Amino acid sequence: MLVIIAKDTPAADLVRLTVSLENRGLRVTTVTAEDATLLYLAGETWRIDGEGLKALPYVVDVQRLTSPYPLAARSAKEAGTVVHVGKAAIGRDFCLLAGPCAAESAEQMAAIASSVARSGAAVLRGGAFKPRTSPYTFQGLGAEGLSLLMEAGRKAGLPVVSEVTDVRDLSLFEDVDMVQVGARNMQNFALLREVAAFGKPVLLKRGMGATIEELLQSAEYLLRYGNGNVVLCERGIRTFAGQMRATLDVGAVPALKQATHLPVIVDPSHAAGRSDYVTPLALAAVAAGADGLMVEVHNDPASALSDGAQALDLAGFAALAERVQKLLSALR
Ligand code: PEP
Ligand code: MN
Repeated sequence: MLVIIAKDTPAADLVRLTVSLENRGLRVTTVTAEDATLLYLAGETWRIDGEGLKALPYVVDVQRLTSPYPLAARSAKEAGTVVHVGKAAIGRDFCLLAGPCAAESAEQMAAIASSVARSGAAVLRGGAFKPRTSPYTFQGLGAEGLSLLMEAGRKAGLPVVSEVTDVRDLSLFEDVDMVQVGARNMQNFALLREVAAFGKPVLLKRGMGATIEELLQSAEYLLRYGNGNVVLCERGIRTFAGQMRATLDVGAVPALKQATHLPVIVDPSHAAGRSDYVTPLALAAVAAGADGLMVEVHNDPASALSDGAQALDLAGFAALAERVQKLLSALR
């Protein structure tokens, strides 16, 4: 890390800063140049809050030379991480994660699970604890929803993923194969620490207002607290483009693949907000290099209790899966 200090800074301020940085375990090399003094900091600089340093009146600028997410950074690991979820190997094989926004009934889950399994899905999704904007809309079936999801997954031979929104519910996820932290909780650091300790593979979704660096620092929490089985998910961000629910940041895929060794998947459904945009966005994500897709699928979208407008029906998902395979072959 490089700290640029204004030219006429009193020596006493410089000494005080140097001592305080050294007390935090850093080695400080001072270079006195013509227009400024440069402090070169070596050691575990990711422990330092660069913005805090910048706020000092005599600090002109702070530049990081190493990553603020040392465990998640590409440089931390030569090979890409492969996250095993049941039989699925995310990061090794291109994986489709599919299922309804929310588990609603045994019949609904059974119909969707068997169909998406036939179409090539590797993981069954289904929300039980739904983070809904309105307190009056369907909130998910909670523990019962998780049971419906697990039962359908077991019968279809698919591992399952579901979102946890509250640390108090984590014990209910004992038999869930992968725990999702949703966009709204990407920076719920208490939840991230507990989910890390829980030990199951984690699907971490990008917050709708989060930068790539913030997403990676949230992933760093999971790694720092002992869980290296993390899959990142781009799901659309808020912009001024109003034609969709959120703007799918396709560029996040190559950016993340370059920045981290963790697998990166894309959720075109929550970005699109409408089913007719889901397939084109999904194909764009595949072309951009995503390791997989998470797609909302419903056997009867018109009667879905949540996110029906963006759900593909069973045939729609089968068609999507086929086109994804064709695109993957063409890209090979
Ligand atoms: C979901 O995947 O069910 C969900 C709520 O997505 P997000 O957190 O991306 O909005
Ligand atoms: Mn949804």
